[in-house]
Amino acid sequence: MVDWERLEAALGQQLQGPRLEHVRRVRLTARSLAERYGAPVEAAEVAGLMHDYARSLPGETLLAEARKRQLVIDPSEEQEPGLLHGPVAAALLEEQGLVTDPATLEAIRWHTTGRPGMGLLEKVVWLADYIEPGRTFPGAAKVRAEAEKDLDGALIMAMDNCLQFLINKGYLIHLYTVKARNWLLTRRPS
Ligand code: FE
Ligand code: FE
Repeated sequence: MVDWERLEAALGQQLQGPRLEHVRRVRLTARSLAERYGAPVEAAEVAGLMHDYARSLPGETLLAEARKRQLVIDPSEEQEPGLLHGPVAAALLEEQGLVTDPATLEAIRWHTTGRPGMGLLEKVVWLADYIEPGRTFPGAAKVRAEAEKDLDGALIMAMDNCLQFLINKGYLIHLYTVKARNWLLTRRPS
């Protein structure tokens, strides 16, 4: 049994305003994707609600917390510590006893970068974060429509959008996003 009140109370200590509204929408989107694709529904909701638990921590705090736990795996994270808010959230939630299910923690950990070999729950949460109804950036509607029929297809589309955005901006690309996208592509039925 999930203690939603306890999760909401902890979340309220970390996030405010639009970020709180965002995670609540991700919870609902993750639930409907989980129902559609047969992922564990309650786990998807917990991961959706808690995925940005560390999103409001300053960059230097994220980097320090990540280093302390040896969670830094790619140079892009040193440059852009915001990338660490997933791994740090998973670590904090586990240590604080707020989330104990390993698959839920993994979905939270990899919700920003993705990773090769990501499981169904991880895919659902990653995509829910991208297509929740508050997302209005170019391409979101197309990915949302694809998510109605093809989970991996929607993920590839969304990751391609992310990579194109990063290249256009001249930002570093996290190795795991490239690997996740290639992994998804190589598993497509031809
Ligand atoms: Fe996030
Ligand atoms: Fe998010």
